[in-house]
Amino acid sequence: MPTFSEWLLPSLPSTMPTNERVFGYSPVNSSPCCRPIRARLDFSALRHNFSVARAYAKETKLWAVIKADAYGHGQFAAARALDGLTDGYALLESEVAVALRERGHRQPILLLEGFFAPEEVARIVQYDLTPVIHSRNQLEMLAAAHSRPAHVYLKIDTGMNRLGFASQDTDAVRQQLERLGICQITLMTHFADADSREGFAAQLEEARQLVDRANLPWSFANSAALMKHPESLGGWARPGIMLYGGSPFGATPGHTAAELGLRPVMTLESRLVAMRTVGAGERVGYGGTWQAKTDTPVGVVACGYADGYPRHAPTGAPIAVAGVLVRTLGRVSMDMIACDLRDVPEAKVGSPVTLWGSGEGGAVDADVLAEAAGTISYELFCALAARVPRIYENL
Ligand SMILES: *Cc1c(COP(=O)(O)O)cnc(C)c1O
Repeated sequence: MPTFSEWLLPSLPSTMPTNERVFGYSPVNSSPCCRPIRARLDFSALRHNFSVARAYAKETKLWAVIKADAYGHGQFAAARALDGLTDGYALLESEVAVALRERGHRQPILLLEGFFAPEEVARIVQYDLTPVIHSRNQLEMLAAAHSRPAHVYLKIDTGMNRLGFASQDTDAVRQQLERLGICQITLMTHFADADSREGFAAQLEEARQLVDRANLPWSFANSAALMKHPESLGGWARPGIMLYGGSPFGATPGHTAAELGLRPVMTLESRLVAMRTVGAGERVGYGGTWQAKTDTPVGVVACGYADGYPRHAPTGAPIAVAGVLVRTLGRVSMDMIACDLRDVPEAKVGSPVTLWGSGEGGAVDADVLAEAAGTISYELFCALAARVPRIYENL
């Protein structure tokens, strides 16, 4: 009986990295395996988008939000690409923050939800991290700790009703923090509606009153507020999605990513692996949800929901083949999608396809696809599956 690792890694040279031996490719910076799907990550676009954020907020320092593995783009690669540009990084896990420190990043690091367990406090102090304090529970953990961070973000709930202290408790919590020897306090809130008007004005008003009363530094703005509400820019803003080339306003005309000057960082691309003519009256895919009215040339793309493509994308979702923007047909399968090739007479097996982003296959705005699938580009990026090889460019 072979050992587990012999069984797992059959007859491939042991000099090959484990990822490549197990999966046939390395998920990071790989030469992709033969199935043609890949995600290209263009970090020059990330730097470009960061400079767009800078231009909106010239007097404001920026936390580059790299939570959720930099919205699926690779947190260490994103941090590296923004090193020397960003004023700090914002993310969730203290372990990731420590890994950034160990990679030599000296900038401030904001832990957007603070700490989850008492043993994290010592690590926060040791690695000079800035935690958000949003709950009494965290105050108790701080009180019990042997040492405490010098600087915290005090999160106030102004209407999101998720995390944060009530506005009227701000003074009391501040005094408690000061009694614990924490005197560098920045007020923080998060907007529920920065991409629209309703709700936003009330939240901003409540937050501004707090700032006036407390006379503390503050940080309110996410991407949407940063671009749309300059009055919400405090000392520090927290752009996320815009850095990755998604519009916080979705596919809203006038506010698309391209119109905001943002460039896609992630391009999900593949190729046609089969073609056929589907006769009038015939159907395509599971459930036969799409039926041909006339004989229709149909392409099959090597990409499905197991790659992170949204299964809810209906017939008509945008997809680009050989430079032409066309539409998907029928249901998304685990490993395949069908598309309409009537406008692409030159299409052949092997023709390049862009699922989202911009590449050899053409351009598809991730926000337009997301809207068609009833979601947001944030989710498309974060859901990119582990099996898709990543190609890191311009890092
Ligand atoms: C995710 C997050 C952001 C970034 O939001 P975007 O809409 O991606 O710009 C900012 N602040 C907090 C607290 C967050 O959790």
